[in-house]
Amino acid sequence: MFKPISMFIMISILCSMTITTNHSSSKATETTGTISVVSFDGLGYEDAQRYIGKGIMPNLEKFQQQAAYATDFVTITPSLTAPSHAAMSTGAGPSKTGIVSNHFHSLGEKVKDDQSGFAQTLGATPIWKEARNQGKITATVSFPDSNPENASAATYAVYSGGTLADSKLHNLKFSVVDDERVEQINAGSVKVEEAVISLDIKKSPAKQLYILRTDGKEPKYYISMDRKDMGEEVSPNNWIAVALNLHNFDSAGFYVKLKRSPENNEELQLFQGTVMGGLYRGPGKFAEEIQSEFGFYPAADEIEAFKNGDITREEYEQVGERFSNWVTDVSFYIKENYRPDLLFYYYSVVDNELHEFLLREPAQPGYQLANVLEKEEYVSWAFGQADRAIGRIKNNQNPDDHVLIVSDHGLEPIHTRLSPNKELEKAGLLVKDQEGNIDASKTKAYAEASGTIAHVYVNLKGREKKGIVKEEEYEQVKKEIVSIFKDKTVFTALSQNPKKVAHPILRWLTSKNEKFNKVYMYPSLSVLSSEKQSEVYPYETVWTEDQEGYAALNNNNSGDVFLSAAPGFIMGKDAKIAVEPTQELGSHGGNPERSTLRPILYASGPMIPPGEMSERITMTDIAPSVYELLGLGVPDFVEGKIIWSGR
Ligand SMILES: [Zn+2]
Repeated sequence: MFKPISMFIMISILCSMTITTNHSSSKATETTGTISVVSFDGLGYEDAQRYIGKGIMPNLEKFQQQAAYATDFVTITPSLTAPSHAAMSTGAGPSKTGIVSNHFHSLGEKVKDDQSGFAQTLGATPIWKEARNQGKITATVSFPDSNPENASAATYAVYSGGTLADSKLHNLKFSVVDDERVEQINAGSVKVEEAVISLDIKKSPAKQLYILRTDGKEPKYYISMDRKDMGEEVSPNNWIAVALNLHNFDSAGFYVKLKRSPENNEELQLFQGTVMGGLYRGPGKFAEEIQSEFGFYPAADEIEAFKNGDITREEYEQVGERFSNWVTDVSFYIKENYRPDLLFYYYSVVDNELHEFLLREPAQPGYQLANVLEKEEYVSWAFGQADRAIGRIKNNQNPDDHVLIVSDHGLEPIHTRLSPNKELEKAGLLVKDQEGNIDASKTKAYAEASGTIAHVYVNLKGREKKGIVKEEEYEQVKKEIVSIFKDKTVFTALSQNPKKVAHPILRWLTSKNEKFNKVYMYPSLSVLSSEKQSEVYPYETVWTEDQEGYAALNNNNSGDVFLSAAPGFIMGKDAKIAVEPTQELGSHGGNPERSTLRPILYASGPMIPPGEMSERITMTDIAPSVYELLGLGVPDFVEGKIIWSGR
């Protein structure tokens, strides 16, 4: 994956030469400022209106009054993050980008092996690469599908290098030390103690973090990565940035905080945040400059630590705000110092929060007043945080700049988790070994689930690595898969005579667990009454190649059968039970026409007339519209239309 530095510099020099040559030949009609496309993951249209109404998004409200805003904007199928951003940045849908899900199986692999939709080079060129090829300067910051290690990088790119170690709350055990550091600290007059924690960093030798404490009434603390050096003096209860020097990343590091143990005030703990790698790529001294101005690429959130109780809600929010501000600061810095024609950047805070805490329907587990109010407060914070970023973006907009504020999808409340692989297993199409692992040598079909959709792949001989289904069996296996999911209903028995059926959900419902027993009504009356039926088909969409809807997904990466869930259902990839109450409260992936899944689109700048855009706009219309603003021709592979032509 990693390219040697020398080669990278050579490529950069070649690219920057191309840019200088072509830049002067650009058309005269184009805008002179920067066109920024800013994506707020998961910020749905309905929620935007809701939180504007509640006074939580005053900056978006103001922006709406001055900008063009879409009232009939839809994303693509599936309404997932990687496919939607691929469509946004290329102007083409999954059949061309190949990003058919957040995780999918590719031809020639074993049937259960998967690819990340965020790591692959897009099958259609994203606009930051295409515009760069046509002489523009482009930049991406934290934007999905913009990994600079792919072939289709922007001129300047800042991207996550991934999680290198999970967060951890360490109990510190101090013991007296007597070495040169004692001299460094106080010339040997006060006793010094040391605690050591080990960091288990992916693909790197183990590293230690040393915490020194002086003896006395008001102890002083020092943190260092080097046992020979006393390090930097730090105060408890403050966040401290710790940078790491790892040869395969342009930046790496994490935050720590010394805290008093809640059980024993005398004892100290150290919260070690998620260790992140960062990729900073661009011509000249770009990487060094970003590193020296902004340090390492910080963790976007510490959700697991918050759920574990390792950090407080306040600390969790500090981490989220820090990341949002970092993205804004880096983006503005690039805009000001490198003057890109096109700049893409991205915020994940709303999506993170809604996946965990979107508790709005009586059918959802844990639905009770206090819990609903608490979760609503969490979610409101995320929308407020997004709005503060929008305020800064608006203030930063120069008269010749264009700003597009978009999202990739909204989220819907989830009550039930489905397991398509469990259904395949029950039907004998998927086989597990004694340890419970999938035995690919006996498995005829496997589902790769993501959010509320799944692709089901037939383990075809000659196509899948070590495939077992013969060509003449293929149609039959596919038919079998379709019937498993098409005919699947839930709750029939439950709703007619709930008490006598040992349905997994009912068992959970009627368990002795008081906490859940009283608050969980299932299925919700609204689900049943709105459908006017006593049963629900949770696999709402079951598509194969001959169905019309499948055409937009028709790609080698797509399953032989595509599944999409009814509202309220999520699909668990490794879920052991066929149907169970969900832990994840918000999700997306299904039919993009659903009002909850609608994204937002606002656009403002000298070439865009403000006001409502009431016509139908789809996610693939963004890229061609930006090509138009850039004064560039729209490439042939683009499926969308130019939004502002004829307005
Ligand atoms: Zn998303």
